[in-house]
Amino acid sequence: MSIYLCNAKMEPKRTPIRLTFLGTGTSQGVPVIGCDCAVCCSADARDARLRTSAMVEVGDKRFIIDAGPDFRQQMLREGVSHITAILLSHKHKDHIGGLDDVRALNFVDYPHEIHTVHIYGTHDTCECVRKDFDYAFSANPYRGVPQMQLHEFGTEPFEIEGVEIVPIRGEHSRFEITGFRFGELAYLTDFKTISDEECEKLQGVELLVVNALRFEPHDSHFSVDEALQLIGKVAPQRAYLTHMSHDIGLHCVANLRLPEGVEFAYDGLKVEI
Ligand SMILES: [Zn+2]
Ligand SMILES: [Zn+2]
Ligand SMILES: [Zn+2]
Repeated sequence: MSIYLCNAKMEPKRTPIRLTFLGTGTSQGVPVIGCDCAVCCSADARDARLRTSAMVEVGDKRFIIDAGPDFRQQMLREGVSHITAILLSHKHKDHIGGLDDVRALNFVDYPHEIHTVHIYGTHDTCECVRKDFDYAFSANPYRGVPQMQLHEFGTEPFEIEGVEIVPIRGEHSRFEITGFRFGELAYLTDFKTISDEECEKLQGVELLVVNALRFEPHDSHFSVDEALQLIGKVAPQRAYLTHMSHDIGLHCVANLRLPEGVEFAYDGLKVEI
């Protein structure tokens, strides 16, 4: 007993990390408008995929990774009223298109308080947000514009309210993409390639999330095989695939094609480490 207590004392206390998959679909979402394939017509809730986004809760801090066109629906489904920050992986619309809806979070305690939403991205991504939502950043904004404060990060780890976040860089076809590591959890979406140097930053990760568009190769996203290669290299305890298209097939069938410890994520799935 005394040994157990002694060991327990020496072990550093880990803050629990909880991951919620808010959306696991590619840019068009699943079902796809006008498609009558078996996946798009499936009655299995795991085959209905909103645009890719995730919520990472570290203790009482809550981070949203990406805010695509389904952001409003995702916040409503999970009952979210307060967040610590939004982290953006890149500037594609399926990852930033829902930012106007941060207004609801701004005014949740109004009139006593207005919560500015803090948004983190690379210089390139922040420039795009400034351009696309220029009405929110004008010198003389009208009443009711989304209150967003942009923060640019580079290649170095940064901290938000005491939580360290390590940016992981890769290529998404023609431009740079960022994944994020929080302690033993790492989340990568829309990657096509990653250098050995960046891969090193994933060592020791227990739970890894990686994008996998479909089984066939694609120009700007990992296929399932490419995602599995990265997972094999990092060797986490568990891995989930996200950002899937309807081409992946029915969840219940496609999942059987994956090795042990790897699964296709689905909307609403919650995982804790
Ligand atoms: Zn995407
Ligand atoms: Zn379809
Ligand atoms: Zn993209």
